Amino acid sequence: MIRTDDKYQDIRDAIRDLCSEFPAEYFRKVDEERGYPSEFVKALTDAGWLAALIPEEFGGSGLSLTEASVIMEEINRNGGNSGACHGQMYNMGTLLRHGSEEQKRLYLPKIASGELRLQSMAVTEPTTGTDTTKLKTTAVKKDGRYVVNGQKVWISRVMNSDLMILLARTTPLEEVQRKADGMSIFIVDIKEAMANGMSVRPIPNMVNHETNELFFDNLEIPEENLIGEEGKGFRYILDGLNAERTLIAAECIGDGYWFIDKVTAYVKEREVFGRPIGQNQGVQFPIAKAFINIEAASLMRYEAARLFDEHKACGAQANMAKLLAADASWEAANACLQFHGGFGFANEYDVERKFRETRLYQVAPISTNLIYSFIAEHVLGLPRSF
Ligand SMILES: Cc1cc2nc3c(=O)[nH]c(=O)nc-3n(C[C@H](O)[C@H](O)[C@H](O)COP(=O)(O)OP(=O)(O)OC[C@H]3O[C@@H](n4cnc5c(N)ncnc54)[C@H](O)[C@@H]3O)c2cc1C
Repeated sequence: MIRTDDKYQDIRDAIRDLCSEFPAEYFRKVDEERGYPSEFVKALTDAGWLAALIPEEFGGSGLSLTEASVIMEEINRNGGNSGACHGQMYNMGTLLRHGSEEQKRLYLPKIASGELRLQSMAVTEPTTGTDTTKLKTTAVKKDGRYVVNGQKVWISRVMNSDLMILLARTTPLEEVQRKADGMSIFIVDIKEAMANGMSVRPIPNMVNHETNELFFDNLEIPEENLIGEEGKGFRYILDGLNAERTLIAAECIGDGYWFIDKVTAYVKEREVFGRPIGQNQGVQFPIAKAFINIEAASLMRYEAARLFDEHKACGAQANMAKLLAADASWEAANACLQFHGGFGFANEYDVERKFRETRLYQVAPISTNLIYSFIAEHVLGLPRSF
């Protein structure tokens, strides 16, 4: 198989070695038990991979987003699911770019060492969905603390994290000039919050993804847990989302290659009508098409990551990379399932598990339609539709 990105071969080899300790049976078992791959996440943390983006002065390895994306890609390419831990990779970007010196010194070294996990970010709400600026969770300042009330939904990895980034409105929507103003972000100590007004209700779901509803009933957060300036939280979050989208694009690319490897091997072996099914062009072409689209999406991922690493605007590229990669992995997933015939539905082939896992990325962390809308309005200058 061709490789357009060999200069990251060292990272690829190291991740492949680590993943070889966690074969398909491991992830299948975790999936069947609806468990959390704690041993795998610990191995990644101990080897320093989840601290890739933390600068060396704070105990991380100071790698670029490009290199981080290769780490995520390889995890998924080797049959794992970065979704169990990708929050740890990008959530601390918010702290890194917008936190105070004191906050960075307090949290980043502990996140880098694995003593603290920052796996969660709470943005989405049940009644407002993608219309984030209308979110209803409020944080009201009172006697040196912020008092939080409201509700969040689909908040991932809360039960496998120590810290969470929370977006809440600090100035009512009616009182701000622009709807993106008046929201703030906080770093929340999850255990402390659960004992003081935050309750967590898990959402059983189609993928083995630990995700939850959160309810805030007068949760008090110390004011020193505000990140950056009050009222600017939505802008800070958007910054981090570009990193998130680029990394998730890389995960989809890894999934895509996994499906291609799997189906290519299978159609060479499987004989029906006296010849390998992979000899039929009706089988070859959908696989070839998906592969071409994965390679193309990968190039857009590198472009988004390059711009991010150079601190240049990358919203369009990060969104396009996410869309192209999610579509390509889904196309590869369909070809892989289809050409495994009935066997694709058997758990032991892992195809159905990866199929479910990669389907998520048509919807989260941003749905396909919302990316079209972003490109139409912000890149092509078409009239706003909402
Ligand atoms: C497993 C999982 C994990 C998640 N983890 C997190 C997390 O950790 N933290 C977090 O904050 N959120 C998380 N999310 C939430 C996720 O980001 C949202 O589900 C996603 O952004 C879509 O929002 P919604 O579900 O409210 O859909 P809605 O906003 O209700 O949209 C539903 C559908 O309608 C379409 N739609 C809506 N408006 C328009 C329009 N104007 N034009 C065209 N189409 C439109 C959308 O594209 C979408 O397909 C997670 C979700 C899942 C499923």
